[in-house]
Amino acid sequence: MKNFEYLAPKTVKDALTLLAGDQGDSKVIAGGQSLLLLMGHGLVTPKYLIDIKGISSLNYLQKTQSGLEIGSLTTHRSVETSPLIRNGFCVLAQMEGALASLETRNWGTLGGNVCHADPKGDVCPVLIALGAKVKMISLRGERTMAVEDFSTGYFETALNPDELLAEIQVPNPAPRTGTAYHKFTMIEGDYAIVSTTVSITLDASNEKCKDARIVLGAVAPAPMRAKRAEKVLVGREIKDSLLQEAAQIASEEAEPVSDMHASDEYKRELVKVLVKRVGKEALEKAGMA
Ligand SMILES: Cc1cc2nc3c(=O)[nH]c(=O)nc-3n(C[C@H](O)[C@H](O)[C@H](O)COP(=O)(O)OP(=O)(O)OC[C@H]3O[C@@H](n4cnc5c(N)ncnc54)[C@H](O)[C@@H]3O)c2cc1C
Repeated sequence: MKNFEYLAPKTVKDALTLLAGDQGDSKVIAGGQSLLLLMGHGLVTPKYLIDIKGISSLNYLQKTQSGLEIGSLTTHRSVETSPLIRNGFCVLAQMEGALASLETRNWGTLGGNVCHADPKGDVCPVLIALGAKVKMISLRGERTMAVEDFSTGYFETALNPDELLAEIQVPNPAPRTGTAYHKFTMIEGDYAIVSTTVSITLDASNEKCKDARIVLGAVAPAPMRAKRAEKVLVGREIKDSLLQEAAQIASEEAEPVSDMHASDEYKRELVKVLVKRVGKEALEKAGMA
């Protein structure tokens, strides 16, 4: 690992001041669960490492009238075990429970995961299905953006070099909404070979689909919505055959590439299986919500 200068600001303002002078040679570190691996391989060689883990004001999870507010330094484990997510957001616990090992979940942060923008990551697909936003801050002010627009490509985000990701905002789900997540892995808790999140909102009759989101992970440079497949479901009563149709379309929309774990054809097949399976689970949850 190359030498670097370690800086540990104690406040958000101090961290932002350090970032404001960034000439592209600083890197924020939260838990270091991903960053240290990249630095160890010499893929990232910052001159200054800005450690924000000690800024306690970025570590919170709270319920407001409009939904959940999660500080960027909140750990995966805190999300997984919080009683606040049981009502309407339990898919977050479902996702977190399958993310890495307990040790990694105890130290890795939600903000770090979102900023790392690994296309195989578990967090962003679920946040996109829930319609979540991120709040970014800098000395210039703050801005919010849908998580869907934040991941711009392979390990790339819309974050500017002088910005910190401060908060993740998850809106309350609409009535009669169910969301489910599943990832296919070779080893339990490993990165996804393919992941699928489906969110379904039923209309007032509890029969027809009012809204649907299908988010695929690990089959494109960033998490992607299968929008043509979503359209197939909206306005119709969801039966097995309709889910099958949507699953087929989603598998055609996916853009997987072959790697050491699976061929692109196999990943398309996984999308087909998972969209149907996870869609069914989301539908059941929507019927009970
Ligand atoms: C063995 C292992 C297995 C894993 N398995 C999975 C898995 O199955 N699924 C999965 O989704 N993840 C997995 N991860 C990743 C892990 O879950 C962490 O969420 C992720 O690595 C982020 O960790 P961190 O918070 O320590 O961020 P860091 O490693 O400190 O930072 C990651 C990136 O985000 C940037 N960053 C961090 N916080 C901020 C912020 N607030 N503002 C701006 N930039 C910021 C950093 O500069 C860096 O580029 C795994 C990690 C390990 C080590």
